[in-house]
Amino acid sequence: MSLAGHKIKVVCRIRPFLKTEKPDDAVAVEGTNVLRVSNPRDSTKDVKFNFDSCYGPDVDQATIYRNDVRPLVETMFSGMSATVFCYGVTGAGKTHTIQGTETEPGIIPRAVEHIFMHQQRDAYDYDIRISYYEIYKEAVFDLLKPHDPTLAGLPIREDANRKIFVAGLSEKRVTSYEQFDSIYQKASGNRRTASTKLNNHSSRSHAILTVQVQWQDDLSSGKTWCGRLHLIDLAGSEDNRRTENGKDRMAESSAINRSLFVLGQVVEALNTGSSRIPYRDSKMTRILQDSLGGESLGMMIVNVAPGEAFLQDTNNTLNFATKSRQV
Ligand code: ADP
Ligand code: MG
Repeated sequence: MSLAGHKIKVVCRIRPFLKTEKPDDAVAVEGTNVLRVSNPRDSTKDVKFNFDSCYGPDVDQATIYRNDVRPLVETMFSGMSATVFCYGVTGAGKTHTIQGTETEPGIIPRAVEHIFMHQQRDAYDYDIRISYYEIYKEAVFDLLKPHDPTLAGLPIREDANRKIFVAGLSEKRVTSYEQFDSIYQKASGNRRTASTKLNNHSSRSHAILTVQVQWQDDLSSGKTWCGRLHLIDLAGSEDNRRTENGKDRMAESSAINRSLFVLGQVVEALNTGSSRIPYRDSKMTRILQDSLGGESLGMMIVNVAPGEAFLQDTNNTLNFATKSRQV
């Protein structure tokens, strides 16, 4: 797999127009790597953005999985960690990409199915566990347990080997895809959703699914291996000034914007080889610290909604993505 010097690949996906939207050509993919964003007032001022891959509205879930995600999932079986983020405004296609639908399954079902296929094929006895949590206003909540409004967020700690962990976070062992799916569906119902002017199912929290695979080398050496995969549906990156929310929503928005800003800085620092990586500046990057640095691989999928109506958001999203990529 060619990583072209990037620790965290940055790819772009434009979703198709919805039936309720009037199509235009404000954004378009050129070739395999470039997104062109038009300037509605002056077409000589169109801007082009480069990505490791750029996927247009006709590219299906299977193609994205096969090209970009599958190679990351495979690294789990050499004991590495991999992370996939979906970044973008509410309505841009993050949940469709990471989770998908019954008829168009996204990254989570495909990755988990892939992991169980490995288990059937290999001689090792894999122990597969999941945890699933959300980060809301910089507090961590377990999604594998029913939501308890009296509980404060779970603390983040460091163990004797300086590994970071979320204290008290539950882990469930899964032995089949069907079992995983039923736990995952139920847990997704524990997510916090709140309506905003932009979208009444908008997600104001980051949802992080971690799949861990552990196994022993073989009887002679008996070394324990562990691979980890984090699949993350980030909170919407919209500019909160446009959503005209109350005080509570504003507090949420500033926590979201801050943690996305820190994520961008961490990705940028990793991709430029900077010596100071600001993991500690947000809960999410702190928890993922051990899985983002070192030999680990990651990918940020930048989800973009087509059309002129989203141009301001699209420009904000792409400016964020360009800084993260740092070619
Ligand atoms: P987000 O999670 O970023 O808020 P969603 O994933 O909910 O956005 O997508 C918004 C809408 O667009 C949904 O109705 C979803 O079904 C649709 N959609 C998103 N991406 C695609 C795609 N690649 N193909 C078809 N429909 C899509
Ligand atoms: Mg969503």
